[in-house]
Amino acid sequence: MQVPFSDLKTQYNLIASEIKEAIESVVKECAFINGKYVQEFEARFAKFCGAKHCIGVGNGTDALFIALKALNIGVGDEVIVPANSFVATSEAVTLTGAKVVFADCDPQTYNIDVHKIASLMTQRSKAIIPVHLYGQPADMNALQQIAHQHELKIIQDCAQAHGAEIDSKPLASFGDVLCFSFYPGKNLGAYGDAGAIVTNNDEIAHQVRMMANHGREAKYDHVFEGVNSRMDGIQGAILSVKLKYLNQWTHTRRKNAAYYDQLLKDAKGVVTPYVASNVKHVYHLYVIRTKKREELQQHLKTNGIATGIHYPIALPNLTAYRYLKYKQDDFPVASMYQHEVLSLPIYPEQTYSMIEFVCEVLRRYMRK
Ligand SMILES: *Cc1c(COP(=O)(O)O)cnc(C)c1O
Repeated sequence: MQVPFSDLKTQYNLIASEIKEAIESVVKECAFINGKYVQEFEARFAKFCGAKHCIGVGNGTDALFIALKALNIGVGDEVIVPANSFVATSEAVTLTGAKVVFADCDPQTYNIDVHKIASLMTQRSKAIIPVHLYGQPADMNALQQIAHQHELKIIQDCAQAHGAEIDSKPLASFGDVLCFSFYPGKNLGAYGDAGAIVTNNDEIAHQVRMMANHGREAKYDHVFEGVNSRMDGIQGAILSVKLKYLNQWTHTRRKNAAYYDQLLKDAKGVVTPYVASNVKHVYHLYVIRTKKREELQQHLKTNGIATGIHYPIALPNLTAYRYLKYKQDDFPVASMYQHEVLSLPIYPEQTYSMIEFVCEVLRRYMRK
């Protein structure tokens, strides 16, 4: 049996007629950039997030950059980000001219360790970017308290967490602004690059919309210099089709994760995901930990099972951040886990027999 890491082809086949119709409409009406189909998606996604505003942009990295700029963050400021994430999180900070400050991750949830933040605070600290890594929300209750105490802004990196919840509330009830990616492999994925910024704040929404579109108020009235980062009409129309299925897909991801949990319970040498009791995890990734990561990954591959590593090098250990002169033991948890984490295939189109096969192959290997 072959188990791919994800299966966007099967997903497309299930919704192909609707997708073709959506693309056709955009092309017929020449609604290529922003326009009617992007507006429709923005309204639908804002509602899905339980928020007042959604602004479509070019991709998730731009969403983070534009959100930071709209909050006036730049040269001379510091922004705290988790040591374990995709590079876009910290890259966006540097792009504004602000300084990246990494915080180690929590040993159980892999999200930013809220207890490590106080010692990183300086006069220059302006914001925190929690990442809801793998689809599990970070501890926003604690982060909001810290942010309130120190007058920091919170920008949520929701690239892996479409539809996640804390205390049965949507993520939009926390923090100032949320940034989403619709990269094809995300829980809600476009057919190309796309992203969005979501907020309940009218002023932030207005700033973001201008920043993403050359700082313009009207067609040729540029209030300040911004960037060109707008959503394509084709992506907006495709995302509107796929959004209708998102709750169902998330439900299946969660069921698949529960099945993995059950089959891997007390598997030797394997740590399954810990989920905080008050959150809804949306399982963008199902990440286990094992000391035998390299050997296990190879064994699974030999048996036709694709896996991933998120991420093989913790952000502070990347060559790109050598200039910050960190030592590996500055981030003991992230630096250890980069050698142990392994993402098993999880996606809505996956069958139970595929999960059974993955777990059977894995358990047999770990027993040896
Ligand atoms: C995918 C991702 C991004 C960047 O999104 P793009 O749309 O690829 O620019 C940012 N942060 C995290 C955590 C991501 O997983």
